[in-house]
Amino acid sequence: MEKLTKILQKDNLTKEDIVFLLSLEEPESIEMLRSYAYNIMRANVGEYVYLRGLIEFSNICVNDCYYCGIRKSNRNIKRYTLESDEILECARFAAQNGYGSIVLQSGERRDPQFIDYICRIIEEIKSTTKSENLPNGLGITLCVGEQTYATYKKFFEAGAHRYLLRIETTNPSLFARIHPADISFEKRMECLFYLKEIGFQVGTGVMIGLPTQTVEDLANDLWFFKELDADMIGMGPYIVHRDTPFNIYEKYFLENKRKIYLMSLKMIAVARILLKDVNIASTTALQALYPLGREEGLRFGANVVMPLLTPSSYRRNYILYDGKPCVDEFTNDCGECLISRIEKIHRPIGFDNWGDSLHFKKKH
Ligand code: SF4
Repeated sequence: MEKLTKILQKDNLTKEDIVFLLSLEEPESIEMLRSYAYNIMRANVGEYVYLRGLIEFSNICVNDCYYCGIRKSNRNIKRYTLESDEILECARFAAQNGYGSIVLQSGERRDPQFIDYICRIIEEIKSTTKSENLPNGLGITLCVGEQTYATYKKFFEAGAHRYLLRIETTNPSLFARIHPADISFEKRMECLFYLKEIGFQVGTGVMIGLPTQTVEDLANDLWFFKELDADMIGMGPYIVHRDTPFNIYEKYFLENKRKIYLMSLKMIAVARILLKDVNIASTTALQALYPLGREEGLRFGANVVMPLLTPSSYRRNYILYDGKPCVDEFTNDCGECLISRIEKIHRPIGFDNWGDSLHFKKKH
């Protein structure tokens, strides 16, 4: 406890400090870390939770990442791309219900038709969701993977202003083990720098609990977020999907589930302490491990949640990992449930607010 208190009082954490914090196991120590991170959150970004309606608009992907349920080799799902009307309907719903922002997420495609389709959709969403409450329309975050500099620029000019691109792990050899040879660590890094140069608010993140991943790897990941000067963080536990080559790790995953869950919460807390004023998402995958996982993520220092807006008939075909929550909901809107969950932990919600990263705002 004495060492923990000393580390938490420091202005700047070292990598060794981060390893120490991530290695905490005693419930009292973890609670102390949580409550410290929560106070840092309150002092730097406040207690508001911001909503990003998540629209998974296409599950077609040209890649074959070994861990991912929508990898191109998975023949057990039906491929889809939402029509523009369907996407616009989700976006209008988000605007009318005070979400402020949406995330447009899909598998990775780089063909011109798809790029043009995304640009058109962004422009239409911006123009149709303008209102007194949202004079500039919905805030739009894109999450459509690795693209060229020119494509990122097109997206930005069309009106998207935030972009999520997870590095997944900053250990290059682990990165190489979880991706096929045509996906390179260097290229992923390059894309992150393109996004920053263009002027996006840039989000990144990692998977927590990958086989062979060490606490030092995770400490390096957090350090990388700081060096990248990331504006948003979206991390989640690694959860096995049965229709992937990584299903061989199912036993490992089941045996380590509790540990992976706790490590994911500690990662949120340490990210908050280290990065202070960035936006941090409490991801759906946390809820897949523990029913109150998303609320716990918020209690450990996160300030963003992403209610699922993908029309319910498509959800079964956008499963990146086993046990994804909200897939069998009959309603298209997960917001109502999520909002009541947030209210139960007494956090105010930033309705009709883009909820941009304060870290980004301070830089510009
Ligand atoms: S992780 Fe992304 S890029 Fe890789 S297969 Fe899944 S959707 Fe495609």
